[in-house]
Amino acid sequence: MSLLYSFAFWFPAVSLAVLLAERLVPWRQQRLLRPQLLQDIFWFGFNGYLNRHAFGWLFLAITTWIAASFEQTVGLAPREVGLVAGAPLWAQVALLLVVSDFLEWLIHNALHRVPALWAFHRIHHSIHTMDWIGNYRFHWMEAVVYRSLKYLPLTLLGVEYTAVLVVAVILLTIGHLNHSNLNISWGPLRYVLNSPRMHIWHHDTQIRGTAGVNFAVIFSLWDWLLGTAYMPAGPRMPERLGFKSDDRLPENILWRFFIPFLDRRPADVEGPADQTQARDASPQNDQPVSSEDETG
Ligand SMILES: [Zn+2]
Ligand SMILES: [Zn+2]
Repeated sequence: MSLLYSFAFWFPAVSLAVLLAERLVPWRQQRLLRPQLLQDIFWFGFNGYLNRHAFGWLFLAITTWIAASFEQTVGLAPREVGLVAGAPLWAQVALLLVVSDFLEWLIHNALHRVPALWAFHRIHHSIHTMDWIGNYRFHWMEAVVYRSLKYLPLTLLGVEYTAVLVVAVILLTIGHLNHSNLNISWGPLRYVLNSPRMHIWHHDTQIRGTAGVNFAVIFSLWDWLLGTAYMPAGPRMPERLGFKSDDRLPENILWRFFIPFLDRRPADVEGPADQTQARDASPQNDQPVSSEDETG
């Protein structure tokens, strides 16, 4: 099988490409060797390569139970349903992209609203200096939650491996770009595609709305449609990245690996003191991003 058919090829290739772009045309002046880089290299390696092996058993146990419950109720294994099996590849990719990304939006929203889930997700929000590798700073339990909740709807679609791979590579690329130090807003496409200039506000210490803004991974469209988008004009930056009382979160990786199970303080305790009132997320009322701001 060709190398191109393997995520093990695309994972380092896309990572290296975004890293090089950041060094060539950085948005902000940031040092390559910054604080907590070693920790991010750990999360990158663990979440990129080891998570599935270390916690595959947990995912397998959950999905086996889901599949058995589904089969008991419907009389058919989820894999046998195959809603779009046999459809052209482009249609499978398009459908998987849209369905999967909307599920990610919903799950990400829940990670902010459900205290037990926020306990894990705050590891991702402990980022103070944003660059591409931050995309892989997340607690391993997050991956188990995402994969488990997406398992049934995506399995029912019955798409083939190539479609899964294409969507995974798009997700990886946009995810890396969202966290990258690149001045990209996608211009008029910002109402459809997420970008570094949009995702940076998701990491603002100041929470806007009830639980935050810009939950999308690939399609910012969900946020614009559902009233959770926030994107000021121009390449502006939040004053500080992180979350209130993030200084309470130990920096030690071992602690971060296990602490969400021990300390589940709810999000509103850790959120900002003052929530913003002056937010208008509608595209019409948002100041337009001037054309000279655009790079991508
Ligand atoms: Zn988040
Ligand atoms: Zn992020």
